[in-house]
Amino acid sequence: MEYVTLNNGIKMPALGYGVYQVSSAETERCVLDAIGVGYRAIDTAQAYGNEDGVGSAIAKCGVPREDLFITTKIWISNAGYEKARLSIDESLRKLRTEYIDLLLIHQPFGDYYGTYRAMEEAYRDGYVRAIGVSNFYPDRLVDLCHFVEVTPAVDQVETHLFQQQAKAHEIMKKYGVQHESWGPFAEGRKDFFKTPALVEIGEAHGKSAAQAALRFLIQSGVVVIPKSTHRERMAQNIDVFDFALTDEEMKRLRALDEGESLFFSHYDPETVEFIIGLAK
Ligand code: NAP
Repeated sequence: MEYVTLNNGIKMPALGYGVYQVSSAETERCVLDAIGVGYRAIDTAQAYGNEDGVGSAIAKCGVPREDLFITTKIWISNAGYEKARLSIDESLRKLRTEYIDLLLIHQPFGDYYGTYRAMEEAYRDGYVRAIGVSNFYPDRLVDLCHFVEVTPAVDQVETHLFQQQAKAHEIMKKYGVQHESWGPFAEGRKDFFKTPALVEIGEAHGKSAAQAALRFLIQSGVVVIPKSTHRERMAQNIDVFDFALTDEEMKRLRALDEGESLFFSHYDPETVEFIIGLAK
């Protein structure tokens, strides 16, 4: 496993396991499988409805808590100082842990400054080791960085071969924020795993298209949290630290960036209405 060092000195695994769209019932088994094949970082969220499954796995896995790196995210319905504070307690309870390694604001909507103040407080009180954001596009990230006391450690945004977020990456670097990818496989959209460049580059290293895609992001300085409910795919996805892409291969993959979302843009007012609607 490789690690990145966040802006407060905390070490975070460069690759973790994401549990979006994993049912609450299946989450415990999936996280135990993931930990069993070597993952130490787990990415969940209040909105996924499966923090309790992650918590059961943490309690049962037999790996010391300090060897795990647990991320969760505060949902829009818990935005604002008071609600966010209570929701952090609730997440700690569900996750069955005394501290969260990385706590993110899930979406840049509602009173997220109030949310952030509650997160800064939890950080100072030792309930959280690092705080950050998700889905903050460069405009909102820059604004936040200028008006908070604790600079966000991480920004988790849609990032994959077809939406590489080059500009956002540069802004994050400028502000000392670690870029983390969600949807490193674009959830399989656009026949992702059949992309000729990924298949060919993977084959050149005796690896799969999925492994080439993850290696590309890691070598670009991006933390990845691929999701799979299949143990053998979990094992495949973490097996990306014994090879390196050449400069030519990196260049070939960089050229496939389409520079726009395959899901939804946070700059689009209809998307904003849709996401806020999910929280009502
Ligand atoms: P993803 O990791 O890009 O793709 C997951 C899909 O790829 C699943 O259909 C999975 O199928 C398939 N897959 C995984 N490994 C594979 C392999 N080696 N070969 C072939 N197919 C494979 O999608 P994601 O779950 O959206 O993103 C990853 C994580 O990012 C999430 O779980 C979540 O933690 C986080 N996320 C955050 C946000 C946010 O707003 N902050 C949004 C989305 C996601 P099987 O499961 O059937 O194997």
